[in-house]
Amino acid sequence: MLQILQEAGIAALFIAIPFYLALSYWCFKDARHRSYKVSFQFFSVILTLLIPFFGVFIYLLIRPTFFLEDQENANLLRKAFSEDEPEKVLRDCPSCSRPIEVDFVLCPHCLTFFARRCKRCQHTVRLGWALCPYCGEPQGLQKSDLKVVD
Ligand SMILES: [Zn+2]
Ligand SMILES: [Zn+2]
Repeated sequence: MLQILQEAGIAALFIAIPFYLALSYWCFKDARHRSYKVSFQFFSVILTLLIPFFGVFIYLLIRPTFFLEDQENANLLRKAFSEDEPEKVLRDCPSCSRPIEVDFVLCPHCLTFFARRCKRCQHTVRLGWALCPYCGEPQGLQKSDLKVVD
């Protein structure tokens, strides 16, 4: 009986030791993907070697959330998007003089309407204008109301 227990214990060790070493190695590999700091990579190995099995759980709790590659991709995307964003051209609201974007149709500060969108080309057209200066679309006027110069 004792011998069977001993053999079972030895067999368990033969399974457990490689698993323990493999876990430690996995943590090292994972740490390399998540941090440039050699100290952190070293720490992950020491942690998992010193605290068998539970060290891995501790590592999982304290490791950086994202892979370095993902962080770099996210940074690149963020940079690309911020560069693509056109610079906003500002002007003063004709009513309250606070700065607003050039193609706003109303002032968000004083709620004054001073323009609308052309139905055809979507450019900003001032309220008093009869025609869209970009595409010639009449703005709320009949074509017969317009003077045509030959
Ligand atoms: Zn205003
Ligand atoms: Zn238009």
